[in-house]
Parts: sequence; C-alpha cells; structure tokens
Amino acid sequence: FPVENIRNFSIVAHVDHGKSTLADRLLELTGTIDKTKNNKQVLDKLQVERERGITVKAQTASLFHNCEGKQYLLNLIDTPGHVDFSYEVSRSLSACQGVLLVVDANEGIQAQTVANFFLAFEAQLSVIPVINKIDLKNADPERVENQIEKVFDIPSDECIKISAKLGTNVESVLQAVIERIPPPKVHRKNPLRALVFDSTFDQYRGVIANVALFDGVVSKGDKIVSAHTQKTYEVSEVGVLNPNEQPTHKLYAGQVGYLIAGMKNVTEAQIGDTLYLHKQPVEPLPGFKSAKPMVFAGMYPVDQSEYNNLKSAIEKLTLNDSSVTVHRDSSLALGAGWRLGFLGLLHMEVFNQRLEQEYNASVILTTPTVPYKAVLSSSKLIKARRAVQKNMIFIDQNRVMLKYLFPLNEIVVDFYDSLKSLSSGYASFDYEDAGYQTAELVKMDILLNGNTVEELVTVVHKDKAHSIGKAICERLKDSLPRQLFEIAIQAAIGSKIIARETLPIFKNIFQYGGDITRKMKLLKRQAEGKKKLRKIGNVEVPKDAFIKVLKTQ
Ligand code: GDP
Ligand code: MG
Repeated sequence: FPVENIRNFSIVAHVDHGKSTLADRLLELTGTIDKTKNNKQVLDKLQVERERGITVKAQTASLFHNCEGKQYLLNLIDTPGHVDFSYEVSRSLSACQGVLLVVDANEGIQAQTVANFFLAFEAQLSVIPVINKIDLKNADPERVENQIEKVFDIPSDECIKISAKLGTNVESVLQAVIERIPPPKVHRKNPLRALVFDSTFDQYRGVIANVALFDGVVSKGDKIVSAHTQKTYEVSEVGVLNPNEQPTHKLYAGQVGYLIAGMKNVTEAQIGDTLYLHKQPVEPLPGFKSAKPMVFAGMYPVDQSEYNNLKSAIEKLTLNDSSVTVHRDSSLALGAGWRLGFLGLLHMEVFNQRLEQEYNASVILTTPTVPYKAVLSSSKLIKARRAVQKNMIFIDQNRVMLKYLFPLNEIVVDFYDSLKSLSSGYASFDYEDAGYQTAELVKMDILLNGNTVEELVTVVHKDKAHSIGKAICERLKDSLPRQLFEIAIQAAIGSKIIARETLPIFKNIFQYGGDITRKMKLLKRQAEGKKKLRKIGNVEVPKDAFIKVLKTQ
C-alpha cells in the first residue's frame, strides 16, 4: 500500500455520543463487516463492555475504501469516552494523524469532548468535528456548531452532521477522513521502527502486540529486539486487525497491525516500547507518559490457596491494561495480596469485573482510598466537598464550564453520581491532577472494647472524621457476630472518641433448647468459624466481618 493512501485516525467523544455506533457504520460502509441489523458496537468485544454498554478498551480495525478510483487503507481506532479511560485515548492518538470528534447534536459539548479535543490538539492532529444523532427530535446541530466554533475555534462549516444510528451522511465522514487527515509521515526504506501502543495476552499464543510502524518493514521470520528489555525474538506472525486478527506476509511503515513474537512473559511487551530489527538498532520512539493512578484499593484472594492463580491473572490483565499499578501488600485480616492503583472508580470496577469474567478469579476488593492530591473540576456539591472555584467559561446561553480545585478523595467515590442526579443528568465532569495541597488530615482508629483494630486504621479529613467513623462503626456492628459479653465499637482520633456503637450480648446456643444433634451441628460450625477468627483483645473477629467493612459495597 502506498503511504499516501493510508489514513490513521481515531474516534473520540464524550461517553454515549456515538463513537462505537459510528465505528459500526464505517465498518459496514467499507464492507469490513456485513451489513445486518445486529451490528451494535461490534468493536466492544469484552463481556464487561457489552454488559455495561461502554467501551473500556481501545480497538483497532483496518478498513479498505475505494474513492475516485484509488484504494485507501483506513486504520480506525475506537476509544473509550469515560473520564477514567483517557489514558487509552492518549495512547491511541500516538498512532494517528487525525481524529473524528463526535458530539451529540442534542447534548452538545460535554466535559470529555473538551478533554479529548485538547488531547488531539496537543498531539497536533487534524480534528474533524462530527455532529451525531441529528435524527433525534430535540437535536439542535446549529447550536452545537456554534459551540464548536466558540470553544475550539473550528469554523462551523467544517462540521459534518450525521446520524450514526441510521447511517445518514456517514459517507461524508469517510470522504473527510481521506481529504482532511494527512497520510502518516514514515520512511519505508529506513530500518524498522515499530511502536507498541497496546498489547493483549492470549493463553495459547502468548503476547499479541498492537504496533504502529513508523519506519521500515517487518515480516514473519524477522529477528526483532525490544528497545526496553534488549531481548531478541523471532516474529512468528504479523497481520492486520479486520477487526479480528488477519495474518499478512508483511507490515509496512504507515500501517497499524499486530505482531506475535513468542513473548511469553507479560513484562516483555511494554506498552510504549519500540521494536527494531536485530541487526539494525535505532533510536527508540518517544514512549508514553505513564498513567497516574488516582484511586487505590487492596486486592486479596478470597482463599489464600488461590494466591498464585490470582497473581498470574492480575499480571495478564495489567498487560492488557497498563494503566493499573500493582504493589504487593499484606493485611492482618486478609493475608497476602496487592495494592492496586486505578485511574478512577469505574476503572477499578471494570478491572475487578474483568478478573472475574475473563480469568475466573474471585477477589476481595477493599474500600478505595486516594493519595492526597488536589484536582480540577466542576459543579455544585462544591461547598460540602471543600472546593475552590478557579474559572468559569460560558459555552453558550445554556451551558457553562466551571473549573474547581477539589480534594481528590471528595470526588472518587460518589461525586460523579451525585453530580449527575443533582443536575438531572445535564452536568458532565472531567478532572486532572493539580498537585498536592496541605489539608487537615487525621488518623482515625477503630477500637473494639478499647483495643485498636489495625486493619481498620484510616486517614480522613478532620471535618469528615465523625461521619466516616460513625459509618464504619455501624458497618462493623452489623457484621460482627454477638459474643458472650457486650462489645463497644468506637472510632477515635488520638484519645478522643468520636463515634460509638454497642453490640449486645449473645445468648449461648445451649440456652436455645432444641435437640442434641442440632446443638452439636451448631457447635461444630462455631468451631470451624473460629479457625478464621482473629482475636482483638478479648473480642473474636471473623475474617468475614473485616471483609464486610473493608469491601466496597
Ligand atoms: P459511545 O459511548 O460514544 O461509543 O456511544 P455508543 O456508540 O455506544 O452509543 C451510545 C448510544 O447512543 C447507543 O444507545 C446508540 O444506539 C445511540 N446512538 C448512537 N448514534 C446515534 C444516532 O445517530 N442517533 C440516535 N438516535 N442514537 C444514536
Ligand atoms: Mg463506545
């Protein structure tokens, strides 16, 4: 394929504005998939994506398109829209020269529209604005055109108005991709330089690296080297994603495709790595800024005998999602495990769900916490959340963009949901790291009959200590079994008690009456339960109780 007939582009948008649906239509229009009524977000391959109806993983598809007698190769990368996954977006953009910026004709510009535009703008990509869902009754494409002109400084006549659902005007999108996005600037005569921009792990074939070729050619049988590890491999398969893997003889500079080279260990295929030919070392391509985790949670096997299986599942999944950070950790209550860092709460839930669905692992995930950093953001809720307003921009008469500094821990757990419900779904939200700020934080202990429960020590803001302490005490009261004496459950800061619950006395099972076999059964069960007990002072705490208090919901 001549380089001038190649276009590498990505679709970016706020969540639900129609990226994946537009991708479906483009796949159909170019004959990549058959046109049937059932093509719904075909690039969302993961079970979690189909169940939640969101894209969490960028996907690549190569489309062939004839235009004015020339055949073009269009490499499309579909990306997630949710705030937690912008790392996937910025990685995908490194393999592209342009983006389709999809905006819902009814909702107009939203928080991630702005965030994604600036990612593309900073990467100096051509931006083609696409106003989608013009079939909706309340669609107002002219208003959205004006917003785009005002906020992004893109002339309104550059906007393409479509309905991805009905397929209306989607050909103009293909036309614009060919006319307005430049071909990649690459050199096929130079030695191979391939950027690994994503990778997945296949149980049978090992690591499958998604690569964008900046220079040279790679063929089956080539000896290649990873710039990162300096290890040498033999290429066993190359091909394009159509959107499923389709082997080819070679991949040329300008193409986006996949490569398999016997990398068995998940640490071998680093995202952002450069691959080159064994005998022709090159300067590595600039990699990626590493992702910055915002939310941390402990992850433990439900049963310690599952530790090794879970370890290998986590390793494989982090290969597929390199924005997760992993550190070994252990807890008195839960045993050996890990401390994982995620980009946000949805990211954490999705990771957990993927572990369960794709790797059959059952895990205990503890309540997420944050590193103490401050963040920029928007909305109401703000007073209660200790925020400081930074600036305000009117997008049009009906919409305003607000920037605030927030403590991160105020927004990770339920901020997004509260914002949505307070604004009846109209407000949207995005954030970026604004560095650390000083804050009045205190260490809060949880006591059982006066003894500290080390597993439950937390750091909280002074003003919130009371409500958080009370909530933990209540949860603990609900999950602790009654014992032969009363138990005081307290939250304390230093020597000051700030919340208290009391667990009443348990009636010995022998006081129940009933027949002897039933008593024996109960006693046996109690003895089994004791194996999993931990003693804090004179209070016996089953592992279960910790799990209930520590676990998310
Ligand atoms: P993404 O999150 O940006 O990938 O959005 P999806 O492609 O998953 O679409 C979100 C929702 O909008 C789905 O329910 C689609 O059926 C719907 N949708 C997408 N394009 C259109 C359109 O042109 N018109 C209408 N009415 N609905 C659309
Ligand atoms: Mg999608």
